[in-house]
Amino acid sequence: QVRGADIRAFLLAFREKLAAQEAHLTALDAAIGDADHGSGMLRGANAVVAALPADGSPGALLKSAAMSFISKTGGASGPLYGTALLRAAAALPDQPQVTRPELQSALHAAYAGLVERGKAAPGDKTMLDAWKPALDALDAGKTWREAAGAAAQGAEATLPLVARKGRASYLGERSVGHLDPGAASSALLWAALADTLS
Ligand code: ADP
Ligand code: MG
Ligand code: MG
Repeated sequence: QVRGADIRAFLLAFREKLAAQEAHLTALDAAIGDADHGSGMLRGANAVVAALPADGSPGALLKSAAMSFISKTGGASGPLYGTALLRAAAALPDQPQVTRPELQSALHAAYAGLVERGKAAPGDKTMLDAWKPALDALDAGKTWREAAGAAAQGAEATLPLVARKGRASYLGERSVGHLDPGAASSALLWAALADTLS
């Protein structure tokens, strides 16, 4: 079972990881973007934690997180992560506890929201390159920790790709040889999920 307290712990863990990696995420974005990914993500996650209700259902907490994130993050990643969190919230049954399979399908809904909003595909050197392998791992019956490992590998595998969406796509071939910042932050989200659910 997954309770509101677990979702709360996940969001706090995600914020901690973003705080620890802020400079790294910003350095990645400095290479192929505008050097704001670390600061933007941390600003959003700080707002999420500040506004998070003390208790509530998993869906209610994710919805609160989505609203805070959208209002404070900005850039491409604010609406994208915000949509993902909102879709996950909407996909969950409105119950104080949900099952792990229900959370897994909510994460699929989140991914569908990312695709709809960003119109990217795996291989375009975006956050999808971390999300897709993680979801595939869960679908293959792997653990949450293995899914987080797949997300991290997916983020590493953006190195040789040419960016086809977002700001990095303006660089064309010059985006090759750099990691995608949004894939790196998405790997942190999956690591936070694994920390909470393992
Ligand atoms: P901005 O480029 O507006 O400054 P950020 O730096 O916060 O936004 O986020 C950049 C990240 O957003 C990229 O590294 C990439 O992972 C992700 N991204 C950008 N455009 C898209 C898109 N269309 N679909 C999915 N992810 C995208
Ligand atoms: Mg940026
Ligand atoms: Mg920006």
